Amino acid sequence: MAGKRKDSGSVRVGDGTVTVAGWVQEVRNLGGISFIVLRDGAGEIQLTLPKKKIEPGLFEALTTLHRESAIEVTGEVKESKQTALGLEIIPSSFKIHSEAGAPLPLGVVDKVNAEMDTRLNHRTLDLRKPEARAVFQIKGLVFELLSEACQSLGFVNVNTPKLVSSGAEGGATLFGVDYFGRPAYLAQSPQLYKQMLMATGLERVYEIGPAFRAEPSNTNRHVTEFISFDGEMSWIESQDDVMDAIEEIMDHVFRGVSERGAEHLGALGVELGIPSRPYPKLTYEECLSLVREAGLDLADGDDLGTEGEKIIGDHMASKGVDMYWIVEYPEEAKPFYIMAKEGTPYSYSFDLDYKGQEISSGGQREHRIDVLEGRMRDKGLDPAEFDFYLEAFRFGMPPHGGWGIGVERLVTKMLGLPNVREAILFPRDLTRLTP
Ligand code: ATP
Repeated sequence: MAGKRKDSGSVRVGDGTVTVAGWVQEVRNLGGISFIVLRDGAGEIQLTLPKKKIEPGLFEALTTLHRESAIEVTGEVKESKQTALGLEIIPSSFKIHSEAGAPLPLGVVDKVNAEMDTRLNHRTLDLRKPEARAVFQIKGLVFELLSEACQSLGFVNVNTPKLVSSGAEGGATLFGVDYFGRPAYLAQSPQLYKQMLMATGLERVYEIGPAFRAEPSNTNRHVTEFISFDGEMSWIESQDDVMDAIEEIMDHVFRGVSERGAEHLGALGVELGIPSRPYPKLTYEECLSLVREAGLDLADGDDLGTEGEKIIGDHMASKGVDMYWIVEYPEEAKPFYIMAKEGTPYSYSFDLDYKGQEISSGGQREHRIDVLEGRMRDKGLDPAEFDFYLEAFRFGMPPHGGWGIGVERLVTKMLGLPNVREAILFPRDLTRLTP
């Protein structure tokens, strides 16, 4: 706090005095002397109140304040060997900006860990904990690093509509919206629009924006609104071009977080390992065998599922690998826009898994309109409903491919958090729509 930040919003240095603003974290009354710990976003400072030296009204008002009240205090700064900062303030005047109600629904510095639901219900108090805020400082840094990496690889930052007339990831998880009397949906991903941009000469695009899934599953990795980091690139030779780009981007993110986020990683007690490159590749079939050997009864073409992904994650961890690709998914298990591997039951697709969880999926897209329309029909979709999308394929569509990465899943796994909700300020799920 003071000492770290001079003349910032919460610290003002005057002539022999200093004014500090913050929340009353703790009041300790020891008879002849009282101590108050004042905290702001940057740290803590001690106010020391020797009863005999402080004006009685001021002493009484400060020492009876409720915890977490927002106040401002002006006083003399003294050196002190007893405090972590090596400083203390002897108050001479104060202002109460806003007194906190009592009792607090959630302790900010209590040792007892509150339930996640209690924390999320009282999120603004929860975020007063430095370790809760550190997650979002790291997440903010991840966004910065993703953009830096994309821009250095020639990707253009774009935004696509979030109010859409059709989905790309399957009807079951679409949120319906009444759009002036017409049915519309919240976009599950930028899939269709980022592909359409491949027909424009914006050769490489990326988007960081919200994606909405009406996921009825109550798991620690599914929410109904998350931030998707999407990329799409044209004139590719194969999906390897896409996977190379992702590896470059991920490497920049991991290195950047570990260097520029060191302070926040420290607050969380996280030692971040940088996944070694190239990320190893497993085929879907190899994964299926591993999962079956571990006793999970999966049919050909089944999604590996949470348990399957964890089995593969443990297997890879035993080889010292955190980040790896799963390639060659069966064509049947993939959406219509993924290119099938002709003459085989497989597709040009990949998932990127990190520590036993899928964080990304992508692949080469089908750019030949006749084949694309055929795939739509095979999957029970009516091409007429996707006419706006198909138009982009009618007048010369380059070969292209791309990915979607769930940013919160990435951050959750990087920081070893138990639930994706902890990496979202105000998460939305089956039951949670407030705060
Ligand atoms: P899963 O099988 O784990 O439900 P998915 O196959 O539906 O994921 P995609 O449609 O491929 O996921 O979305 C791309 C990425 O978006 C995923 O790898 C994941 O990181 C993220 N993602 C997808 N659904 C969710 C969700 N409900 N909550 C948080 N992140 C999600």
